[in-house]
Amino acid sequence: MKVSMRKFRLAVTVLLGAGCLLFILGMGRAQAPAAHGPADTVIRNGRVHTVDRAHPEAQAVAIVGERVAAVGTDAEMAGWIGPQTRVLDAQGHSVLPGFNDSHVHFVDGGSLLSEVHLADVTTREEFARRVGEYARRLKKGEWVLGGNWDHERLPGAALPTREWIDAVTPENPVWLDRYDGHMGLANSLALKLAGVDRNTPDPPGGTIVRDAQGNPTGALKDAASGLVGRVIPDPGEEQLTSAIRTALGEARRFGLTSVQDISHAEEMRVYQKLLLAGQLTARIYGITPIQQYQHPAGAGIAAGFGGDWIRTGAVKGFADGSLGSTTALFFEPYNDAPDTRGLFNAMMLPEGHMLAMGQPADAAGLQLAIHAIGDRAIHEILTMYEEIARRNGAGPARGRRWRIEHAQHVRPDDFALFARLGVVASMQPYHAIDDGRWAEKRIGHERAKSSYAWRSMLDHGVKLAFGTDWPVAPLNPLLGLYAAVTRATTDGKYPNGWIPEQKITLAEAIEAYTLGSAYAEFTDAQKGSLTPGKLADIVILDADLFSIPPEKIKDGKVITTLVGGHIVYNAQ
Ligand SMILES: [Zn+2]
Repeated sequence: MKVSMRKFRLAVTVLLGAGCLLFILGMGRAQAPAAHGPADTVIRNGRVHTVDRAHPEAQAVAIVGERVAAVGTDAEMAGWIGPQTRVLDAQGHSVLPGFNDSHVHFVDGGSLLSEVHLADVTTREEFARRVGEYARRLKKGEWVLGGNWDHERLPGAALPTREWIDAVTPENPVWLDRYDGHMGLANSLALKLAGVDRNTPDPPGGTIVRDAQGNPTGALKDAASGLVGRVIPDPGEEQLTSAIRTALGEARRFGLTSVQDISHAEEMRVYQKLLLAGQLTARIYGITPIQQYQHPAGAGIAAGFGGDWIRTGAVKGFADGSLGSTTALFFEPYNDAPDTRGLFNAMMLPEGHMLAMGQPADAAGLQLAIHAIGDRAIHEILTMYEEIARRNGAGPARGRRWRIEHAQHVRPDDFALFARLGVVASMQPYHAIDDGRWAEKRIGHERAKSSYAWRSMLDHGVKLAFGTDWPVAPLNPLLGLYAAVTRATTDGKYPNGWIPEQKITLAEAIEAYTLGSAYAEFTDAQKGSLTPGKLADIVILDADLFSIPPEKIKDGKVITTLVGGHIVYNAQ
């Protein structure tokens, strides 16, 4: 879009003394020359927070086609309104760039909505009741799947065992994930089908939980889950499509216009099918398994390959497990389990295995996104990235934008290394207010101080990308913003914030959830801020987030979601 030079010079003359050149540049851009046609859509009367540093606040946005045409005051945008222009009144509420969740498991999330729900279960009886009720609807032999249970909510934080559910599932094998996906519960029939008994050794990177007699209790951690996982039949394309449709509906409702999905080939095919059918309503960045890096590399696919709707070129690996399952890998032992420091994921074993995949993947131009939660796992991945840079050289001109997924517990010395290597911290703020209920029991106060350390990350110059890990955490991004600015744990024990020095501002949190996530997928030039020329992915809320008390942010609702200028969700 052209800038009116005459107006621009005038503004400079009048206002330069005030020393706000950036403001003037913003105004210059907002005041479009008269030579433009009417907009397709104008959003007016809003508190527009653009996430564009050149022009951070506005009242109105004009959209032409699928892109933002201009941003400015209501008066400035009036010239964009023609007889055919759709005018949306934001009623003084927040207008933001659409949210971009940097880490979701879309199929798992969508499937879970039609599977057994145990996330809020607090007693053994209720656990069994829900599983039994679900199993009664199935045919003999069909799997009971789902779960999302959290034993921290159960009396004495007791791990569930197969005895809890065997009586209600005599004819159906059962596999119920813990909500973090790093542990699951099998019933006796599932263990039998998987051939797991007292003689089965723990696989590398996994634990078969056993009772005093040495018999498996049904709980399997990390790699041990695979023993049962391999006998569960894969969902067919129809099932995947229906799960993804459900997930897209959730995304629309919560103002998510882009998601970065931990995908497999099957999901990538479904996304393409939905795109061709005109049914894709969120932009997808597919992050595929690092074990299969040769597939994209062999097809010449590098980071950010694709179009505005579907991109790919990132590969994901795992360095460790999770804090909740005591499998996140630390330098020092767990406070409440002094016999363990956590586990390397099987991909890290034997030593050098991850590097043997990561180095050629990087050489092919693929983006590395490695799950690392404990301080030792994070340190290992940072030093592996350093080693890859040494071996592969400075790399393509695009820059690498390596990622660490979760990056939860960082040794204070490692923030500088994080920044120096330009590694993006792909984090899920809701985890802090959820895990914060019990994290200090596991790792003590000292290690907690640099946990979920958004303030330290930003202060060191590390780029943040926000998301949820849905279905590990709820998909609603407003819960994430609330978590980032309050750090108020879900049990109400820290109303002023757990480790409050790690809070960040609302503007910083929104940036991490929009432009930061776009940066993490190489699309910050196309989206992530309301800047003329960028894609018109926009969300209108039912409140002005900047003028309500922070504790109310979690109650906010999306009124309208636009993707590429099209309304894909409207609450009214
Ligand atoms: Zn995940």
